[in-house]
This record gives sequence, C-alpha cells and structure tokens, in this order.
Amino acid sequence: MSSTVYQTPTTLSPSRISNFRTCPLQFRFASIEKLPQPPQIHLVKGNFVHRVLELLLGNEPEHRTVEAARKAFDETRTEYEPSARFKALGLSPDASEAFFKDSRDLVNGYYRMENPRNAKIIGLELRLDSDFGRFKLGGIIDRLEYNEKNELVVSDYKTGKVPDARFGANKMDNMHIYASLCLRERGELPKRLRLMYLKSSTPIEVEVTAESNSACEAAAIETFEQIDASCQSGQFATKKSGLCNFCAFKQWCPEFGGDDSLAKIEAPNIYPTFERD
Ligand code: SF4
Repeated sequence: MSSTVYQTPTTLSPSRISNFRTCPLQFRFASIEKLPQPPQIHLVKGNFVHRVLELLLGNEPEHRTVEAARKAFDETRTEYEPSARFKALGLSPDASEAFFKDSRDLVNGYYRMENPRNAKIIGLELRLDSDFGRFKLGGIIDRLEYNEKNELVVSDYKTGKVPDARFGANKMDNMHIYASLCLRERGELPKRLRLMYLKSSTPIEVEVTAESNSACEAAAIETFEQIDASCQSGQFATKKSGLCNFCAFKQWCPEFGGDDSLAKIEAPNIYPTFERD
C-alpha cells in the first residue's frame, strides 16, 4: 500500500466521519484524493425524494395538501430530468419511469408515517457548522422541528431499507453529531433524533442526553485525530465488509489484489466526472 503524506482535511461532515469509520481507505479515495465515482441511482433517488418533501413541507401547514405534494413532485421532476446528475444515470425510458414510480412510492411511504399538516417545522435542509478547534464540522439537517410534546427533534429521511443493528448504529451516530451542532450553533440540545425510513414507513427514534452529546463530540474529535494520523503516515487501513460489494474503488483495494496507488491515475478514465448542476 502507498505511504504518501496527505494534507489533513480541516472541514468534516457527519457523513465523512462515518465514511472514515466504515473504511479508512475508501475515505482516502473519496474524500482525500476526491476520486470520481459512478453515479448511484439510490443516491439520486434519495436526493429527488428529499427535494419533493422539502418543497411540500416548505408550505404553511394548512397548504400541505395532497395536491401540494403532487405539485412538489412534478416540480422536482421538471428540475431533475434535464439535470446532469440524472442524465449521468443513463436510464432507458422504462428505467426512468421506474425511477419516478419508486420515488412516488417513497413519498407515499412518508404519508403513511405522518400527516404533513401536523409537522411543526423550524427549519428544512438547515445548514449548521461549528468550530471544533483543529477542524470545522458541518452538515445539513433534513428537518428540525418540535414534536407534539414541544421537544426539539432532528429528523432525517432515509430511502433505503431499515438496516440491521450492525449498520443502524452509525446512522444514529451521524444524527448525534447533528444534535451537537444544534446545541453549539442554536443553543438548544435536541431531545430526540428520528430516522424516517420512507420505504417501510418506519420511524426510529432515540433520546439525546448531555452524556450522549459529550460522548458523540469526544468520538468525533477522536476520529479527526485518526484521520490526521492516517494523513501524516499515509496509512489508511482497509476494513472489509459487505459494503465492499458496493465500493467504487474495489479494483484498487489491496484486500482484493489491487494497487491503491493506481486509483488516482485510472479512476478518472473509468469514471469520467460529469458536470455537476
Ligand atoms: S473494497 Fe472494501 S476494504 Fe477495500 S476500500 Fe472499498 S470498502 Fe474498503
């Protein structure tokens, strides 16, 4: 494995922290070397559905009607179909229709979970950044709201399946980081974190405490220090798991007989970067 020294990133997001914890080498390819990756349909679909729900919930509560949801869906489709990220998927007309049908099913799954008129939204797609000393940590919260008990809640839509316990924990780790950002930047620690799995209409909630928040911040700082150490030494460990089957860099991974030093030369030829919108 190569031992080049890399510049330590000074800004991190919850998902980048999670990526490093999942596999340091994949983090190096994606977030340090910033190598291109093929567009992934589930990510584009997830973005599409997030946008529909953002438009719907951006209306005043009394205007969050089924008609408004249809309008939000159509507007988003008009926005997405000509976009570079959608075109890069190279979908056939049938596959494209399947994409929008799946997306509609996900929006219907949302409706089985809550009546949008009852959501007490404070912010949608809310950007929060905070200074952690040697690095800045920031991210975008899907929803910040009050629940029926007037408790502050961070909610996040998920378009995939409810993960089993082994993978579910790190999704909640990300949410704890968002809670910490809320406390630092808005002065209030959320009481609850909620993942909304649209496909199965399953909400998963956990409580936030001062202790869980301290532990989450300590863990984020520890991960930054591990990233820094990897950048200085050039050593990014591999972590084999079922996720390797979906890793865009598997062919350059030493775990699978690849040469990681070739990724930066070969990946741009195999995965041409498409112009982002
Ligand atoms: S194939 Fe697996 S071990 Fe190798 S870089 Fe990708 S996620 Fe990490």
